Amino acid sequence: MLKDGYNREVNYLRVSVTERCNFRCQYCMPDKPFSWKPKENLLSFEELFLFIKAAMDEGITKVRITGGEPLLRADLDKFVAMIYNHNKEVDLALTTNGYLLKSVAKSLKDAGLKRLNISLDSLKPQIAKQIAQKDVLADVLEGIEEALKIGLKVKINMVPLKGINDDEIVDLLDFAKERGIEIRFIEYMENAMANSDIKGLLGKEILTMIKQKYKIKKIGREGSSPSFSYELEDGYRFGLIDPHKHDFCESCNRIRLTAEGFLIPCLYFDEAMSIKESVQNGDVEGAVEVLREVLQNKPEKNRWDESDNESSSRAFYETGG
Ligand code: SAM
Ligand code: SF4
Repeated sequence: MLKDGYNREVNYLRVSVTERCNFRCQYCMPDKPFSWKPKENLLSFEELFLFIKAAMDEGITKVRITGGEPLLRADLDKFVAMIYNHNKEVDLALTTNGYLLKSVAKSLKDAGLKRLNISLDSLKPQIAKQIAQKDVLADVLEGIEEALKIGLKVKINMVPLKGINDDEIVDLLDFAKERGIEIRFIEYMENAMANSDIKGLLGKEILTMIKQKYKIKKIGREGSSPSFSYELEDGYRFGLIDPHKHDFCESCNRIRLTAEGFLIPCLYFDEAMSIKESVQNGDVEGAVEVLREVLQNKPEKNRWDESDNESSSRAFYETGG
């Protein structure tokens, strides 16, 4: 079992396999031209796996692959298979924008992927285009339907934005409800990369919209998840992630690995340590030492200050959200 310096059990590793993305969501990426880090800086799947395997042997039981857009990396199914074949009990999940999903969903499932979170911010083609800055909706919807058809467990993530998609909160809830899948509304988190005109809705504003159509009952948080569950009268459950009200730090069970090999103890904390040299030298013990040091230095609380967009200079598309 892995514990951090505050005696919290850490069993969840989020792995960003690329910072690159085929969308430019206004809440996540700068609208000014910017350059990606060179591809040579990326760790190979074999190198990432060397660390993940060691971390699983030390006590990681849940691995989520994210990005940037993880489906942009070729042969992702082979990476999924490496993790799954090491321990078939691992809770292996992926977060994707869904755009490239239709053609790879089956191979990912066959490789051992268990769960998928798909970001869907609008059901209107023009609004989806405005947010992602690309005409994306039709492909994303096809990706969702394919994932459901082949039996992957799907959740939808929506980030409600004032004056953009906040009139679609109930429509998206109904979209998920009709398909029997959970939707999670995520409060927009202010960050240095996002379009500065963007304003998000607070959790209570999101709930007010839903209450205009449905009676809702509070259920509670599931384990260490930042998502708080609510239930409609017919038993359908949805989630709300409201970091403006809760910091989730007390029960935080996660660490993050970037595509370049930085191990990050907290989303809103600039300090990180690299496992790159260790894995490139095949030095598994060295990588585990870095893991232990990062855990020992995991902060008790994050340093996020929503009024100060510079409170973390690291982009969500780099850390994987
Ligand atoms: N590209 C994939 C996707 O969009 O699902 C995976 C990476 S993305 C960084 C992971 C999650 O972070 C997505 O659900 C996205 O909506 C969320 N996200 C990104 N920027 C955010 C922000 N500023 N506030 C809240 N959620 C954000
Ligand atoms: Fe890309 Fe996901 Fe960020 Fe949108 S939220 S720009 S899809 S990484």
